[in-house]
Amino acid sequence: MIRIAIDGPGGAGKSSLAKAVAARLGIVYVDTGALYRTIGVYMLSKGISTSDESMVVAALPDVHLEMKFENGKQIILLNGNEVGEEIRTPEASMAASAVSAIGAVRDFLLSTQRSIAESNSVIMDGRDIGTVILPYAEVKIFLTASPEARAKRRFEELTAKGIDTTYEKVYSEMQERDKNDSSRAIAPCVPAADAIMLDNSALTAEGTVNAVLDIINKVRKNRKKRGSALYVFLKTLISPFYKFFGRVHVIGKENIPKEGGVIIACNHIGISDIFLLSSTFPRQLHYLSKKEWFSVPVLKHLIRLLGAIPLDRGGKDIGALKNAIDSIKAGKQIAIFPQGHRYPGVDPSETSVKNGVSLIAYKAHADVIPVCIRTDGVKYKFLRKIDVIVGKPIKYAELGFLNGGSEEYKQATAKIFSEICTLGGYGKALPEAKGDAE
Ligand code: C5P
Repeated sequence: MIRIAIDGPGGAGKSSLAKAVAARLGIVYVDTGALYRTIGVYMLSKGISTSDESMVVAALPDVHLEMKFENGKQIILLNGNEVGEEIRTPEASMAASAVSAIGAVRDFLLSTQRSIAESNSVIMDGRDIGTVILPYAEVKIFLTASPEARAKRRFEELTAKGIDTTYEKVYSEMQERDKNDSSRAIAPCVPAADAIMLDNSALTAEGTVNAVLDIINKVRKNRKKRGSALYVFLKTLISPFYKFFGRVHVIGKENIPKEGGVIIACNHIGISDIFLLSSTFPRQLHYLSKKEWFSVPVLKHLIRLLGAIPLDRGGKDIGALKNAIDSIKAGKQIAIFPQGHRYPGVDPSETSVKNGVSLIAYKAHADVIPVCIRTDGVKYKFLRKIDVIVGKPIKYAELGFLNGGSEEYKQATAKIFSEICTLGGYGKALPEAKGDAE
């Protein structure tokens, strides 16, 4: 699955770009502007001023929107009727811009937009896709062009459709819409912090498509990468050692994702867990490692090269969490031990767990792969048999998040850890989540 967010001002060519990329990659193109246009046109048809917030909000319960895709074409049904070209007029553009500044309208359209990306690879264009709708999108592009270039394109588009207008009128309406869209308080049209900026004033439509396909290919390659050269080298040395002396048996290899950002959550017996997990998962794992390791000479360079993320275990380490979330969004695999400490010789279902794992899952919108490492006596010993059991991914949607918050994190952590324990056949009771991740 891949989600591509294309944001930017009107007339930058987002929709033609997104359509072409969708066709090339065989994924779904979602034109979110059409939803705002439909609501704007509905309000106009009912004689409601689109700048009258209370009237627009009062009329929303009468709006039933449905979005379908037929042969790759997006179809919007408004109260059961298919909408057509009436949403493409200059009046519809201004009405869309006005209603889109209303928070209740944006909330109303949120789930329609998000639910499509839950189950499909999508390229979605709009103003807030990378910042609000799909903050976890693997590729985010902010497409711009000079106001003159954008107005010229829009003018040509409108006249080709037989709409009577002038370049000056298009230019001034575009300026007004730009101002509304970028200065509004809610979901303004601004680039996401991790968006790639692309100015296509001097590019042809085909040149823009090629530039975007290049960016997507680079991200995809990165997602499949097996890891840094040092990581692969050490792994190649270590894996046979563990396999031979540790008598390691991996169960559930088919559950290992081939690409994409995920969280690997595992019980923690000892230091060997790290090597066992790294030799089980073909792609590089990034561990959250305690900060103290990063001040040890030599070791600090080594673990950095291995992709470890420093974590201050004494408090709420926002930097480490952000780093982990960004890494997942960039398609990397993060390994987390929810117990927070090593517990040699202890049945995992009798230990406590921390909520960081579900906080990260929530913020990164990530699936979680539960893994249980099981060995006789729950303790590593030379030549003792070890099972590494990889469970089926727990999908983000199964974690029960609505708005985040400590209660939801606690429930999700309990679910994740109970799956880990069940994989290893440990305990029946859910471990108590003692959260300090908020
Ligand atoms: O992209 P398009 O020109 O069709 O969008 C029409 C209007 O809808 C925009 O000017 C903008 O105000 C609004 N919009 C939005 N957020 C989106 C998509 C469109 O606010 N994701």
